[in-house]
Amino acid sequence: MTAVHENVSATGLPDGTATQLFIGGQWRPASDGGTFTDLNPATGKPLVDVSAGTAQDIDDAVCAARTQLNGEWGSLPGAARGRILNKVADLIERDGEILARLEALDVGKPVGQPTMLDIPMAAGTFRHFAGWADKITGQSIPTAGYFGRPTHSYTVREPVGVIGAIVPWNTPLMISAWKIAPALAAGNTLVVKPPEDAPLSILHLATLLEEAGLPAGTVNIVPGLGEVAGDALAGNPGVDKISFTGSPRVGRIIAKRAADTFKRTTLELGGKSPQIILPDADLDAAINGTAMGLFFNQGEVCAAGTRILVHRSLYSQVVDGLAAAASAQVLGDPFDPATTMGALVNAKQRDTVLGYIEAGRSEGARVAAGGGRPDGDGFFVQPTIFADANNDMKIAREEIFGPVGTVIAFDTTDEAITIANATDYGLAASIWTRDVSHAHTLAGKVRAGAVAVNGWAPIDPALPWGGMKTSGTGRELGWAGIEANTEEKVVTIIL
Ligand code: NAD
Repeated sequence: MTAVHENVSATGLPDGTATQLFIGGQWRPASDGGTFTDLNPATGKPLVDVSAGTAQDIDDAVCAARTQLNGEWGSLPGAARGRILNKVADLIERDGEILARLEALDVGKPVGQPTMLDIPMAAGTFRHFAGWADKITGQSIPTAGYFGRPTHSYTVREPVGVIGAIVPWNTPLMISAWKIAPALAAGNTLVVKPPEDAPLSILHLATLLEEAGLPAGTVNIVPGLGEVAGDALAGNPGVDKISFTGSPRVGRIIAKRAADTFKRTTLELGGKSPQIILPDADLDAAINGTAMGLFFNQGEVCAAGTRILVHRSLYSQVVDGLAAAASAQVLGDPFDPATTMGALVNAKQRDTVLGYIEAGRSEGARVAAGGGRPDGDGFFVQPTIFADANNDMKIAREEIFGPVGTVIAFDTTDEAITIANATDYGLAASIWTRDVSHAHTLAGKVRAGAVAVNGWAPIDPALPWGGMKTSGTGRELGWAGIEANTEEKVVTIIL
């Protein structure tokens, strides 16, 4: 365990916070002794130094994972794997408060949010996949025969092998659960690379995996820099699949690295999701739901509904409503119960978001709320609403990953769908209407992996999650999560 910086406040790190590498069931420093400094986004000050895994450490972790794949873990029946996953879920719930505190400290989000979403989703994901572990079955398939002889053909689903999981900083515990739980249910082993901006909740999860009785080396957690540890994982020939969540920029790098050794990949990337408000919508519900889709987690959400497409008849009411919702946000200490919006994760992210706000202004959109940063320390940005905007503006085309929404008017439903689909992305979409049959028709026309009617991006361990176009390839969660973590094999017996 490494030194905790002096300026950590009373709401600081829980005792014994893990900050080293977890490889083969052992905690150890990086092979070259290197560390990186993890900052507290709400103060901008150092929180703790964390060991920075090297290519050598990644290689050791991959070897440990391979050994376990061919060892005790690889021969455990599904029911036994399921029991361990259920135990992990119990332990996440037991340590919910510690984990929520770590997420709030490390990511900058109000502590109530991980309590409400990240922690239950992480536990729920382990529980959901505990249920799948002994239900991964194949099929018996009749054939036309083999040179006149009858056959008996059947399929089985086998683990893909060693999975490299690379996780972003916005919801690190939840997204690591999305990767670890289905992979373990299907019998794989893993090397997980947490984000350098927020590694602590995943390191705590490592202690819980150990306590749950997972054989040493089944899941290895190697914090480190993306260009070093992440790159070494994506290129390691001993890794069979990379499960990546992060930016399209890094997703492209990983897809190319993975191609060299024909690794399987799932890439969960960014978004620029539309929220379409039709003239017959329940306006209060639409404004409240749209505001949540914009501002939850400081807008640092892949599925953030940042393009609000509004029928012209409701335009000024929606702009006023969203501006009021923005102004009502209370920015501040993630541990103050009054806080509704925390800090962005680091200075670079804050400056990127402020740069987009300037771009919106200079392209002629009108700032209806926010538009800057508050005084004081920490990486805060005011929740911002742009009105009188169009879909060609930079603020409507590029992912901002901060609390900034762009409100665009439309006149016809066809125009709304055209604008909704005029984007490089295709992760999520919302449609606000009281006409259910119209909603079904429109849901079929929007190019997005997840469409919500009268709500924003419902996520659930049972529902497949993933995007179209630049939002990525492949799906996680639900049965799709099992498919993505197994290879299908066919066996034919010539009778
Ligand atoms: P990022 O791409 O910068 O980093 C993601 C992870 O990749 C981190 O662990 C990082 O260390 C690692 N990494 C960086 N460079 C690497 C390299 N060269 N090789 C291997 N690994 C490398 O993304 P971020 O800033 O952490 O997260 C924000 C992005 O993630 C946004 O675009 C957001 O939309 C996306 N995201 C998508 C989903 C989804 O489910 N689709 C969910 C959350 C976040």
